[in-house]
Amino acid sequence: MTIRSDWTAREVQEVHSTPLLELIVKAMGIHRKYHAVGEIQVCHLISIKTGGCSEDCKYCAQSSRYQTSVKAEPMMTYEEVIAGAKKAIARGATRVCLGAAWRGVRKSRQFDETLRMIQGIADLGVEVCCTLGLLREDQAKKLKQAGLYAYNHNLDSSERFYNTIITTRSYQDRLNTLDIVEKSGMSVCCGGIIGMGETGEDRLQLLLTLSKRNPHPESVPINLLSPIPGTPLENQPKLSSWELIRMVATARILMPQSMIRLSAGRIDLSFQEQALCFLSGANSIFAGEKLLTVGNTSIDSDEDMFTLLGLQKRRAYAYE
Ligand code: SF4
Repeated sequence: MTIRSDWTAREVQEVHSTPLLELIVKAMGIHRKYHAVGEIQVCHLISIKTGGCSEDCKYCAQSSRYQTSVKAEPMMTYEEVIAGAKKAIARGATRVCLGAAWRGVRKSRQFDETLRMIQGIADLGVEVCCTLGLLREDQAKKLKQAGLYAYNHNLDSSERFYNTIITTRSYQDRLNTLDIVEKSGMSVCCGGIIGMGETGEDRLQLLLTLSKRNPHPESVPINLLSPIPGTPLENQPKLSSWELIRMVATARILMPQSMIRLSAGRIDLSFQEQALCFLSGANSIFAGEKLLTVGNTSIDSDEDMFTLLGLQKRRAYAYE
């Protein structure tokens, strides 16, 4: 099977609507061809600068526009971040992601400090990813020079639905940042959030946009909304895990080589549901008690799952 970037909306719809068991079997066949079955990369996310964000993303506890339990905190120190990374690596993480609640990267002491953190973690031999908001070319160059492997910038949803969730920056701003990351030679990590009140068609549009990128994002995180009290989406009903499984399988078929990462919302999934996601092509999880500001599955529970399902932790730079 060749890697395609010319998928059509109709094809994506056809894949997604395949009877579920057949869809999973198909996704698994493709997964087997490009990845080792049962090999899961463990990622660890460190929120180096939490809260006080000027943006208005309606799902986010860190926006200063909403009354949530998250307050603006000072930036973590270099020592704290390196210690957190070492602890996660000792538990099997091979990708460490640094997140900052910024609209975008600014020329500042904080950015210089972030570059130092990236260098320090890259020296530990793992993949380093950052999610710092909008990016310019010169900043991307600096991040790459510091040893950054990947830059995360999610599209969140379809372009149509995006405007009802975020008004402070456009879909095009996000696409531009992805182009800048790609041009710099870093890997693109880009996915979205499902369960925000979007339609099924919006979810397919998101997958279509991602799968039409050439190359495909190296990493595609799929988040299931965790409604956060105080945000405009606090009362959003939970989306069925069957839809998550369909999204994972469809993403695997459309983007055979990408890492498909189960991200926010995993705390609500049983081992059985996660196992179905792994069978459908998911091959990465975020581990650690917290995912930025929302709760995550406990480390012990993840260890139990790895043992029960016979999963192996994937090494860093497995593609190279
Ligand atoms: S998702 Fe990121 S940019 Fe949006 S409000 Fe939260 S921290 Fe800010």
